[in-house]
Amino acid sequence: IPLTNLQARDIASVLHPYTPIHKLGEMGPLVIERGEGVYVYDTQGKPYIEGMSGLWCAGLGFGDEEMVEAATAQLRSLPYYHLFGAKGTESAIELAEKLKEIAPMPISKVFFTSSGSEANDTQVKLAWYMNNALGRPDKKKIISRMKAYHGVTVMSASLTGLPYNHMGWDLPVDRVLHTDCPHYYRFGAEGESEAEFVARIVGSLRDLIEREGPDTIAAMIAEPVMGAGGVIVPPAGYYPAIQEVLDEHDIILIDDEVINGFGRTGNWWGCQTLGMKPTTISAAKQLTAAYAPLGAVMVPEDIYQAYVDHSAKIGTFGHGFTYGGHPLGCALGVKAIEIYQRRDILGHVRKLAPVFEKRMRKLADHPLVGEARYCGLVGGVELVADKATRRSFDAKSGVGAQCARFCEAHGAILRGIGDTIALCPPMIITESELEELFDRLEKALDDCEAWVSTQGLR
Ligand code: PLP
Repeated sequence: IPLTNLQARDIASVLHPYTPIHKLGEMGPLVIERGEGVYVYDTQGKPYIEGMSGLWCAGLGFGDEEMVEAATAQLRSLPYYHLFGAKGTESAIELAEKLKEIAPMPISKVFFTSSGSEANDTQVKLAWYMNNALGRPDKKKIISRMKAYHGVTVMSASLTGLPYNHMGWDLPVDRVLHTDCPHYYRFGAEGESEAEFVARIVGSLRDLIEREGPDTIAAMIAEPVMGAGGVIVPPAGYYPAIQEVLDEHDIILIDDEVINGFGRTGNWWGCQTLGMKPTTISAAKQLTAAYAPLGAVMVPEDIYQAYVDHSAKIGTFGHGFTYGGHPLGCALGVKAIEIYQRRDILGHVRKLAPVFEKRMRKLADHPLVGEARYCGLVGGVELVADKATRRSFDAKSGVGAQCARFCEAHGAILRGIGDTIALCPPMIITESELEELFDRLEKALDDCEAWVSTQGLR
């Protein structure tokens, strides 16, 4: 198919993130022109159900008039201001207050960033700042997990535990340690029960801490349901067991709620669904339902007091982003949370979760599917070469990417993370739209099964 004018201009001038850019010419970018509800439309007018909420973020879908009005009003009254040097804006104040109201634990202050990566980068700096304040300058290492995704700045990419974020970039940096990924289907040993798996990986975390020395470790970062690592839902009992080890060694728990937050798992926060008790929280994405970029770091009073003490010692709190707490993002954050509450979006997610579960369970029977995992309205379908032995396809065969292309052909945008097809539809999706999304995915899986056979990929 010849490239459209926009596709040709795109290839000529845009450097695409997370794209095999060496093959972009062959693929041709899918240029999206507009969105409405759960649908986006390409430049030919073809509709797609946006089954990923863009990048796990457009929880209210596209074209919400109330959001557009809130944005317009904010742009008219104050398009930009900042929070440096004790300046303030009403939208930032209101959003910080709202976040404190819905937080899963008592929060003292909210620090605003422009993105999730910046929020996690800030978390690391704050953990270091806190330990400097507390006179523990050697307690600086951060534990993350294999397959975790925490962003792409130098530090957040280091926390990320995926090969593509390290290979070619000289990462991870020092002071970052990776422990086991809590994915029983993939990493459980032969004959090992889920409980035994949890005991083993929690034991290995304890060994890591003891080997490195607890006095050298500041924090562990964890995302309740691991999204971009392949939608991994840890076994029951995992977080309480991890928590015990961290508490014993005075290591704080940073909860990355960038995907899980604001209703995705059926509660405000993923930590509430998964039984995790965080010290601090990173938020972004659905914080504004993706109508503007914004991130937030939420900290409790005792930790905040340590920053105050250190600021007194060294002269200032020397951290902040030009667009952190941008009034547009904050106004949209306030409006998004108000909409989540008024329209009972969390209740809607809980109502649809059993439908999502029913369709995911059905997918698990497909010959190509090894595991179908889900929590609330987020899920991952892992494609395997051999269902019985769980053998994966050769990494170079690109089965996940091909399946995502079949989804597009059937009018559904889903994401291939390796060979896992991720689903994260807008939280406003109706039951019939959700059924339609799964119908389209099933057709794509059948196409993919046929393609795998003709290519001889088993
Ligand atoms: N943390 C998690 C759990 C994420 O999924 C992401 C992005 O997908 C990030 C952090 C990074 O956020 P951003 O892309 O806004 O920098």
